[in-house]
Amino acid sequence: MIILKKIQDLRRCLDSQREKGLLTGFVPTMGALHEGHISLIGYSKQANGLTVCSIFVNPTQFNDPGDFEKYPITIEKDIQLLEEAGCDILFLPAVEEIYPNGLEPAIHYELGYLEAVLDGYYRPGHFQGVCRVVQRLLEITIPDNLYLGQKDYQQCMVITRLVEMMGWKEKLKINICPTLREKDGLAMSSRNVRLSTTTREQAIGIYQCLIYLKTNLETGSLQQLKNDAINRLQQQGFRTDYVEIADAGTLELLQEWDGKRKLVALIAAFIDEVRLIDNMLLN
Ligand code: AMP
Repeated sequence: MIILKKIQDLRRCLDSQREKGLLTGFVPTMGALHEGHISLIGYSKQANGLTVCSIFVNPTQFNDPGDFEKYPITIEKDIQLLEEAGCDILFLPAVEEIYPNGLEPAIHYELGYLEAVLDGYYRPGHFQGVCRVVQRLLEITIPDNLYLGQKDYQQCMVITRLVEMMGWKEKLKINICPTLREKDGLAMSSRNVRLSTTTREQAIGIYQCLIYLKTNLETGSLQQLKNDAINRLQQQGFRTDYVEIADAGTLELLQEWDGKRKLVALIAAFIDEVRLIDNMLLN
């Protein structure tokens, strides 16, 4: 695997590889890699001659400075995992490389409703930072395929919107890949390493709550079901940002269900000071 830190070097390397006619798959990450990330590398390798992974802990997408400071960094292990997975190129830029003009945003992305609900509401500015870094990384790597995890459901929708706004809809295929889970159902996440033995055991409550929503879904009002789910999480020691059921295609939050619309349940909750998110398609 080739490791590059400078945009210029990456571009030169990608150009020379592309001359051979290879398709490029791109997997952007913030590092502290786990099997979920590695599965994206696997999907990319199946469909592309060249797989590029980036590791960049993007300062502009952290609305909570404490979360940024405590974000786990395990670069040696990450490199080893990527080597084993057969990743071709790792792009490892410094902050100045991505943001040569500083961290102040130059433009505002019109994300509309997507930024008003769920993580858009609870993490102000977060999706602006996501768009900023993803646009920059896409313009640097110019991939044919982009690989994202369904684990970050709303982020997938935001990036799909970004790609439309960039006018790249025809030239970039977005591949949304399934969420990998631990044996007990907890969605794999870089933040899981911050859980203690006790909170790690409690953390499966989020997955269990999604299963509860899926099992007990009925047509008509969803209010009681959502309240029950919130109560369950709170009794298990979580502080919930949201437990919502939304239209899977638009993220419109629903108070009732007609039995036809495709639904997704989404949860964001804190256990101690660690914020976890997860989601599940319900029907
Ligand atoms: P992150 O490093 O958290 O920014 O994640 C990088 C990419 O990996 C994003 O597209 C995530 O949605 C994806 N990802 C994170 N966790 C998982 C998981 N458990 N299963 C599949 N993909 C994941």
